[in-house]
Amino acid sequence: MQAPIASPCIICGADTRFAFAKRFDTHGLGAVEYWRCVACGFTCSYTHSRMKPAAWETLNVASHAAYQGTDEDPGDPRWRTRLEAQARVLDDAAAIGLLDAEGHWIDYACGDGKLADALAKNYARSLLKYDRYMGRGAAYLDDGALVAGGFDLVITTSVFEHIMRRVDFDAIQGLVSPTGVLGIHTLVCESVPDDPTWFYLMPAHCAFHTNRSMQLLFEQWGYTCSVYNVAAQLWLWFKTDPDGIERIVGSANARDGSNPKYVFKRGFVDYWKGSPMARMDVAGKI
Ligand SMILES: [Zn+2]
Repeated sequence: MQAPIASPCIICGADTRFAFAKRFDTHGLGAVEYWRCVACGFTCSYTHSRMKPAAWETLNVASHAAYQGTDEDPGDPRWRTRLEAQARVLDDAAAIGLLDAEGHWIDYACGDGKLADALAKNYARSLLKYDRYMGRGAAYLDDGALVAGGFDLVITTSVFEHIMRRVDFDAIQGLVSPTGVLGIHTLVCESVPDDPTWFYLMPAHCAFHTNRSMQLLFEQWGYTCSVYNVAAQLWLWFKTDPDGIERIVGSANARDGSNPKYVFKRGFVDYWKGSPMARMDVAGKI
């Protein structure tokens, strides 16, 4: 049995315990150990956390280069459909007043920038692109443009599952202005299954959030309410005016009748609570 890891959970500070292992025959990974927090359930890869930065960057680039810049991701068949839904939801959220339509929006770790391109092309909205590893050229912000509190919307899609250090989570949140919004697309489940065959255990995925770990981040960062859009699998976290956000969501949902567009909660919307995520496939079907 593996020796206990001394470092506590990066979300809540409680102890972590070995949960299970999975063998990868790609990217030189071998046996990967996943450790879980005894309190909040946040689970991360001890093996990835011990990788040297250069090896970690190589793994990330290799696992994303195969589909970034193309139209399909074989490991995520809903990628394009979901991106289009996310662009549609961001446009709608600006139109109804959930987002500052004139504010600075940034897609953090945007990869090839498809979400920003879709927003510009289909909705004439500006979403700035930033990617530490893949962002090259005039279309991307450089590191010097990442001003703390400088953005009215900071969105990350498929990013949280690649982050192992608390400082990196905090750096993303730190870009949000005092009245700004944090947008997140990642997989969140009630509990991470002890199942090496779980579809979400991919070579470059090293961090797995639970409803509890997300609620804790939400509180620690000072957010007051959130909304979730199912089609886009996108959360928007708000710092201010939960009454106003609830009113806007109520009006928008009333217009949509029996198919409400947004789920609202004073806290983190634990939409997938009770859902058998362990059996959900990559297409989001159970
Ligand atoms: Zn924890």
